[in-house]
Amino acid sequence: MRSLCVILLFALVSCSTPNQDVQFDGQNALMYVEEQMAFGPRIPGSEESRKTAAWVVEQLESIGWETEIQHFNYRGTALINIIAKSEGVSENRPILIGAHYDTRPYADRDPIYPEAPVPGANDGASGVAVLIELAHALDRDRLRQPIWLVFFDAEDSGNIDGWDWIVGSSFFVDNLSQELEAAVIVDMVGDRDLQLYIEKNSDPDLVQEIWELADQLDYTAFIQTPKYSMIDDHSPFLRIGVPAVDIIDFDYPYWHTIDDTVDKVSADSLEQVGRTLEHWLEIQR
Ligand SMILES: [Zn+2]
Repeated sequence: MRSLCVILLFALVSCSTPNQDVQFDGQNALMYVEEQMAFGPRIPGSEESRKTAAWVVEQLESIGWETEIQHFNYRGTALINIIAKSEGVSENRPILIGAHYDTRPYADRDPIYPEAPVPGANDGASGVAVLIELAHALDRDRLRQPIWLVFFDAEDSGNIDGWDWIVGSSFFVDNLSQELEAAVIVDMVGDRDLQLYIEKNSDPDLVQEIWELADQLDYTAFIQTPKYSMIDDHSPFLRIGVPAVDIIDFDYPYWHTIDDTVDKVSADSLEQVGRTLEHWLEIQR
């Protein structure tokens, strides 16, 4: 009985707060993974990729984010980065949250079908889903910094037909005309068995802020131990001196196989990452 009273009291207090935060919802994020999967593999330059890019723009503009499309060409293929901006206090430098939306053209780690495309539920769709749900959940008028949500093309075609890795983010950085406060990349963040070890090239101060906040929120997926060194979309930012972090779970058995499908992804994992970033961005920094 006592606990019921406590619950009722809590409910009353909650109801009386008019500006109750919209919180990042993992189920919504999982739905955004499914919507991307419905387009098929998002191979750079393909029709499916263009449709996915249009879908990303539509999602963001429908809730009032201004978007820019960055068109560019790489080895004869037309590529697209998408940039969504919130205003914040304009004299502050923007914080960039990024993910790649492309998928690898060949599942070259698949023992049976190495020439089939990677479906990319975790490697591709999970990061994009986190950014889109963040766009809904962020309390934009409480943000001091402008936030840029950036969707990179062509991260994941490295060593195929002479392509490099991280093509979209490299182009973005090479054409950046504004100084950034920080860049946070999310990649492969949907695994049901999510284990986010610290990526070794990531900026130590940013790592400490984000992993400690996750710990305070009891999000056990974040593990405060360094494990892998990655080439990922954070690398071009580090190259030009922008503090950058790669939030990635590289212990994913279905990586670059045809089994990187939506059943391997969970709403809870997406929510741990999304809510940590939401809190981190909404803290007065
Ligand atoms: Zn990949």
